[in-house]
Amino acid sequence: MQKKAMAQHKSFGRRILHIDMDAFFASVEENRKPELKGKPVVIGGMGDPSKRGVVSTANYEARKYGISSAMPLRTAYKLCPRAIFLPVDYKAYLAVSRYFKAVLLNITTIMEDVGIDEAYLDISENRDTDEKISEKIKTGIYEKTGLTCSIGIAPNKLLAKIASDMNKPDGLTIFSGEDIENRLWPLPIRKLYGIGPKTEEHLKALNIATIGQLAALPPEVLVARFGPSYGHYLHEASRGIDESPIITSWEPKSFSREITFQVDEKNWQAIARTLAELTKEVVSDLAEKGYAARNVILKIRYSDFRTVTRACSIDQAVGKEEEIRRMAFSCLKRVDLSGKKIRLVGVRVGRLEKIKNAISGV
Ligand SMILES: [Mg+2]
Repeated sequence: MQKKAMAQHKSFGRRILHIDMDAFFASVEENRKPELKGKPVVIGGMGDPSKRGVVSTANYEARKYGISSAMPLRTAYKLCPRAIFLPVDYKAYLAVSRYFKAVLLNITTIMEDVGIDEAYLDISENRDTDEKISEKIKTGIYEKTGLTCSIGIAPNKLLAKIASDMNKPDGLTIFSGEDIENRLWPLPIRKLYGIGPKTEEHLKALNIATIGQLAALPPEVLVARFGPSYGHYLHEASRGIDESPIITSWEPKSFSREITFQVDEKNWQAIARTLAELTKEVVSDLAEKGYAARNVILKIRYSDFRTVTRACSIDQAVGKEEEIRRMAFSCLKRVDLSGKKIRLVGVRVGRLEKIKNAISGV
């Protein structure tokens, strides 16, 4: 009897669980300020809709008014003036995030951390049923944080992530290989990880609106249109194929900071000063985490939202403020600022190398 169950289990291959906390920032706020419950709550920027900034999270009540993530706070205010606007309190959310990740690590240590409110677990070797594992996680998280989450379980990461989004909030969606035709293919192409607005536009031009229609396209068509790597990805993903592993040892790829001016800025000195400040913050991230960087990328967004980036790379990783600043400024020199208004300045350091001996290294 047990042998049969094992064989069956194997035929399904991997079991990957994706967990996504429900309206995470808003839920943390509601939890510590119960008077917010039942009211539309919008978290973003400095929490002042008359100032610049975008929505980080809207609770479900606010979403009823059409408010969504990445929308300017001003637009959110127009949609629902009586919403309660709060600033992003990242430290508080991070503290709660650590609690729920601890619950996950009790289920398995094969966990990939994909952000403050999301993770993947490989539960292939876990003997409990999908429902039982989900219940353990949900109960554990609720007891520790008072929050709810949505879970997707599927043979791979791609499908698990789609599944966790299918039944929010407090959902559990279990997806097997047999569900691809019935449940994956009817979905709009944007639900597929890696398809953004540009690809969506290209595909709509080919009369492709659903994942099933994408799956029916010959791979050659996709390769001709999108190149071999992305073309093959689209073909496989639309068929629910994804072999990507769970990445457990997480290392940062880059550190970045950016700022949107309250009023568009055209004064070069003010822009340069802001860049120097951002550089300083990025350098302190590097030092704190023990990394040096081999490239620096500057991002400038003009008042018309046109965005340009400039990069500067070197062979030897550096971590000192003056070196990083020199690279950032060499990027700035290559941006056309004459008579233009700037909306946003950002700096990113990448191609990181861990510094073995932080004191002598920096
Ligand atoms: Mg979430």
